Order: sequence, then C-alpha cells, then structure tokens
Amino acid sequence: MNIYLTFDYELFFGSNTGTVQKCLIEPTNQFLEMADKYGVKAVFFVDIGYLSRLQELQNDHPALKKDYNLVAEHLNEIKSKGHDLQLHIHPHWEDAKFENGKWQLKVEGRYKLSDFPKDKAAEIIEKYANLLNSVRGSIADTFRAGGWCIQPFDHIREALFQAGVRKDSSVFPGAHFEAGEYSFDFRKAPDKDEYRFNSDVCVEEPGDFKEFPISSKRYSPWFYWRLYILGRLNPTDHKMLGDGNFIPQPGRKKSVLSGFTWNHLSCDGYYASVLDSTLVHMERSGRKNMVIIGHPKSFTRYSLKKMDEFLRLNHEKHQFVTFSEQNENH
Ligand SMILES: [Zn+2]
Repeated sequence: MNIYLTFDYELFFGSNTGTVQKCLIEPTNQFLEMADKYGVKAVFFVDIGYLSRLQELQNDHPALKKDYNLVAEHLNEIKSKGHDLQLHIHPHWEDAKFENGKWQLKVEGRYKLSDFPKDKAAEIIEKYANLLNSVRGSIADTFRAGGWCIQPFDHIREALFQAGVRKDSSVFPGAHFEAGEYSFDFRKAPDKDEYRFNSDVCVEEPGDFKEFPISSKRYSPWFYWRLYILGRLNPTDHKMLGDGNFIPQPGRKKSVLSGFTWNHLSCDGYYASVLDSTLVHMERSGRKNMVIIGHPKSFTRYSLKKMDEFLRLNHEKHQFVTFSEQNENH
C-alpha cells in the first residue's frame, strides 16, 4: 500500500484562532520526532494565506513579526527533514484583521474560493502559490481546498492550472455537507485510488488533473458516542493539543450521533483508533493508496500514541509516500 500521511497545517478559524506554539509547532514537532524515528515522510498542506497575511502585517504588530518568523522557520525545518509542502487555501486570510492582540476573522461569505468572484479567486491562488513555491524552492503541484470546499471546481480550475497544480486531494467519496460556510458534495465521486478529472472533481474523465481522494469510511453513530463520552471521561488523553476553536458546523453533531455518516480517514483525536483496522480492510479490498488526513491542532495525546503504533507496525510493510517524491520516481 502507498500510504499518504497528509496534514493540514493551520490555526483554527473560529472566534479564537489559537496560538502558533500550541496549534502548529508543538503538535507538529511531536509528529516530526516520530517520523524521524521510523524514517517516514509526510505531506503538509500549508495554509499559506496565513503566512501571507503575517508577512503583510508584520511591520504593524511585533506579535505578528514573531509569529511570521516562527512559522517561516518551522516550515523550513519541516522541509529540511524531507517532508512535502503542498498548497492549502483558506481565502478569508486575505483581509483578516489583527486587533487588540487577536485575529478578527470574518469567514462568513468568504470561507471558500467560490465565495469570491472568479478573477479575485484567481488572484488569491496566484499570490498564495507564489509564496508557497518560494518557501519550497520549487513548484507545489498538489492542492487541497480549505474545508474541502473545492466545488464548483470550474471556478478555480484555470488559476490552479496556471499556478502549476496538477493533483488534488480534497475529495472524500461518499461525504456531503451543506451547512454554515461549508458546501461539498462527494456522493458521486468515484471510489478509486486515483482518477483523472477536468472541470468537475466528481467526474472521471481525461483532463489535466489527477485526484488522490482522502480515504473515506462510513462511521456508525456509536463511534461518535464513544468519541464524545471518552472526551468527557478522560480529557487528558482526548483533549486537542491546539488552543483555539472551530467555526460552527450547524447540525453536524446531531447528524453523526443519529445515523451512519461518511467521513475521512483521519489521525486526529479518536479517529486515529480506526487507522489500523481500516488499513487491513483496504488491503483486503485490493486498494493501492491510503490517504490519511490530519491536523496538528487536532492531535491529542491519544491520537499521537495511536499514530506511533500505526507507524511502528507499518513503516516496513508499506510505503509512506509524498506527492513530490512521486514526481521524481516517474
Ligand atoms: Zn484547512
């Protein structure tokens, strides 16, 4: 199996973004140590709009200058250890304000690239891709949409192509969620290891782009009941390491607790409990790629322990691969 360990490297976007130290540096470094121990490489989808905004505002706020330096150095460190930095876009950073020592994020009506006119979305993509490429020292060719909101793909297709993007990993087949700022519908996406597409991420056809879907899984309501109950019973192991809060997902808690739902295969929090059993199941079904998503901000002591177990058991049996290294081998 080719295992893609992919992390969205970002703060929170709710009323409290959390800090660079707790959401990015500390949890990521715990993973980096583990990755070194097992010789495993991962993909970091960098929320590069954040770095861009830090760069723009750093001279007005000493706190942001400090954060800019911390994040820029951290990205260099991740890169120097051989991990892959790829493009993740949360466009609301574009006009984010920093007031009274806090980010004031307005995500309403600007959470998705499709919330912006096509030319403005193209401008954001170009600007963010250029910045990430300067950090990488080469062209990032893989995209993951912020909040998985990649539809309608046609709205951003041309700009991504111009920026050098040829691969995507935003889709997780079977899932859909339309509430609050979220809007994605992957119920019709091909349930394959990889596929080509052109103007619609859910339609397999010859085209300029290749999708590497995030592995998805149908979760029972019992899974979520356990997740919520364990969080209450044992907060030390199950509390997120990040110190911010999420933007609201209206109705989501009720829907996951009341019926079966599709969600991604994740190494965040309690989701990490099913990594191993899912790998066995996917192998039996003849799958070739397993794409795991994670967010350093959502790691818990429990998930780090599970991830360590997962890497220990599988780093020799399977290949942990990245998108950049895949290009070198072709
Ligand atoms: Zn994100």
